[in-house]
Amino acid sequence: MADEKTGAPVSGTILVVGGGISGITTALEAAEVGYEVFIVEKNPYLGGRVAQLNKYFPKLCPPTCGLEINFQRIKNNKNIKWFTLTEVEKISGGAGNYDVTLKTNPRYVNNNCTCCGKCAEVCDVEIPNEFNFGMDRRKAAYLPHEMAFPQRYVLDQSIIGKPTAQKCKDSCAYNAIDLDDKARTFDIKAASIVWATGWNPYDAKKMDNLSFGKVQNVITNMMMERLAAVNGPTKGKIVRPSDGKQVNNIAFVQCAGSRDDNHLPFCSYICCLASLKQTTYIREANPKSKATIFYIDLRTPGRYEKFYKKVKADTNVSFVKGKVAKIEEDTETKDVIVTVEDTLSGKKIHERFDMVVLATGMEPSTATSKVPGNAKYDENNFVISDEILSTGCVKKPSDVMSSGQTATGTALKAIQTLVRR
Ligand SMILES: Cc1cc2nc3c(=O)[nH]c(=O)nc-3n(C[C@H](O)[C@H](O)[C@H](O)COP(=O)(O)OP(=O)(O)OC[C@H]3O[C@@H](n4cnc5c(N)ncnc54)[C@H](O)[C@@H]3O)c2cc1C
Ligand code: SF4
Ligand code: SF4
Repeated sequence: MADEKTGAPVSGTILVVGGGISGITTALEAAEVGYEVFIVEKNPYLGGRVAQLNKYFPKLCPPTCGLEINFQRIKNNKNIKWFTLTEVEKISGGAGNYDVTLKTNPRYVNNNCTCCGKCAEVCDVEIPNEFNFGMDRRKAAYLPHEMAFPQRYVLDQSIIGKPTAQKCKDSCAYNAIDLDDKARTFDIKAASIVWATGWNPYDAKKMDNLSFGKVQNVITNMMMERLAAVNGPTKGKIVRPSDGKQVNNIAFVQCAGSRDDNHLPFCSYICCLASLKQTTYIREANPKSKATIFYIDLRTPGRYEKFYKKVKADTNVSFVKGKVAKIEEDTETKDVIVTVEDTLSGKKIHERFDMVVLATGMEPSTATSKVPGNAKYDENNFVISDEILSTGCVKKPSDVMSSGQTATGTALKAIQTLVRR
């Protein structure tokens, strides 16, 4: 790549931190026009939160649709290098000339892995499965999920030094397990840095009145995504956590933590749409089922209005305008009782459901883990720097489509930093 005016070569690496859909998009857009890009991802796989969704709008296709095409593009592009299980420890210098220290945690499994699954078969230690929000357990030798990229197993740190780890190693016919693998730090130079570390679900336990963690059949919207997914903890059956009973009557509680000065003061943008989408999961799985959405306002911007109208036309889906005051459990039946004042009729409602889904919002990852360098934040911890650039949900709450659009724009910004330096 050469500077158009001077003909001098334009070089330098673009470092993208976060391998979700936003980071992947920025990386690909820059790499496909000739720039060198490093992607750094803390998980053992790329794809971010989208990989955890059952289906995603607007087309309601499974996440494999979009992600696999992108993984293929990454594999085929020699300009992209990606590091999983890796985080940034330190950034110094400035735009055009950053010094960055990265730390890669051990996977204990090398490139020889064929995903044969033998190590998981012999592994006798199980731990809560974080990919499914702890709704099931997984082996300590594991593939994070079926479509994980890279397709390579991981050994959980907790078994290292224990006989199970040796058993896993002995079972591997491909010499793929390295129990001496260690964390290592290394330094790179980057001309431009894009922070794309996304979001975390807001901690539902913080809303005492909504009883998450106290009432078993109250779950979050991300748990609902996993529950509905065929590769999820119930193989796609939408059943109650308390007794595995089929869910016939479900409620969604909107703005669970969002638009609330005591929690997240902003609108999380996506959770009205997520609940509307999730009513279709249950209505398609069980034609007799009923769903009620308790909302303050329903926000379905732009083309999503059409989707809202489609769900609204379903007579088994009801909408009640009112802020949920209380959620309790019938200790005998494990049903969930929701108390809310219907602001349109003025009536106080006390209604019983099989299960309740809290439409919890998106908190930027930088609320809990700041950029280890010079970055600016807004009052809600979203990254708004002009030097270290940001994109996707760590910049503002967004859906996949707008994440992709801003990520493309951010690729241009990152390239401009290289060209101008
Ligand atoms: C219940 C629910 C349903 C949704 N359904 C849809 C839908 O149907 N359609 C739609 O368009 N959108 C949907 N969304 C929104 C969608 O999930 C986001 O738009 C998308 O995840 C944004 O991608 P991202 O790359 O910005 O962030 P993320 O997906 O969060 O990716 C960020 C990545 O950065 C990594 N990371 C974090 N911190 C670090 C660090 N310090 N160092 C290195 N890596 C790090 C993470 O591990 C992750 O891989 C839904 C959201 C919710 C809550
Ligand atoms: S680490 Fe070895 S045993 Fe485990 S899945 Fe990979 S190749 Fe198979
Ligand atoms: S998208 Fe809907 S549920 Fe989410 S915060 Fe905004 S109004 Fe509330």
